[in-house]
Amino acid sequence: MKAIDPHIHMISRTTDDYLKLAVSGIHVVTEPAFWAGYDRCSAGSFRDYFHQLTVAEPARAARFGIRHYCWIGLNSKEAEDIELSEEVLALIPEYLDRETVLGLGEIGLNKNSRNEIRALERQLALAAERNDLVLIHTPHLEDKLKGTRIIMDMILSEPRIKPERVLIDHAEEHTIGEIREKGFWYGLTLYPHSKGSPERAVDAVEIYGPDRVCINSSADWSVSDPLATLKTANEMRRRGHPEELINRIFYENPKSFLGQCPKFHIA
Ligand SMILES: [Zn+2]
Repeated sequence: MKAIDPHIHMISRTTDDYLKLAVSGIHVVTEPAFWAGYDRCSAGSFRDYFHQLTVAEPARAARFGIRHYCWIGLNSKEAEDIELSEEVLALIPEYLDRETVLGLGEIGLNKNSRNEIRALERQLALAAERNDLVLIHTPHLEDKLKGTRIIMDMILSEPRIKPERVLIDHAEEHTIGEIREKGFWYGLTLYPHSKGSPERAVDAVEIYGPDRVCINSSADWSVSDPLATLKTANEMRRRGHPEELINRIFYENPKSFLGQCPKFHIA
């Protein structure tokens, strides 16, 4: 089968992982800018990171026949240092113009703090001005519902950003309904411990249907699985879902969302 992983942090993965993706049918990945597992101490570190995402990683992926796109942004966990966040926000526009950058991401909230909200506001304004796609990170655990609502209200108060051009990621059972109702895309993340399992993701597709949903592994530097998307496809197959529906969820859906950016072109 053919599949796209719309949220995977390949800079943290090995060449063996690239090979596994390629031989399993994942020939397109998109990598959001995120937290490195520690707080970076200077804007120069972000400059190097954005270079890695836009230059080094697409070249590494191409060696395995994989097309690598990315998203640029300041993640919420590093928005607390106001001086540093200002410097990083000033860097972002020049990277957004690069040819494999699809838009702003993953931006959003982590603890729903004032500084996080401020950095998100600034980046949403940039997306609105430039008409860029947006990939949203929602808080984990108990802050998720509140954070998701704050984020959606912020986006809906900006008429230049259309909800169908925003994917709200790490959605769970208690947030999917509201995200869908408001016209956004939603992402289901498969993470061995803290986020969803293949079974939960397939349950959600069965309840809410196949519209405006993308499934991703979010594989990164922590315990995670770059083939989690395909394991979920297999769970759908095991439950008797037709191949056409599986293809829609894992290939056509991400292609439709990502294809709203003119830089994204795949067969
Ligand atoms: Zn991520």
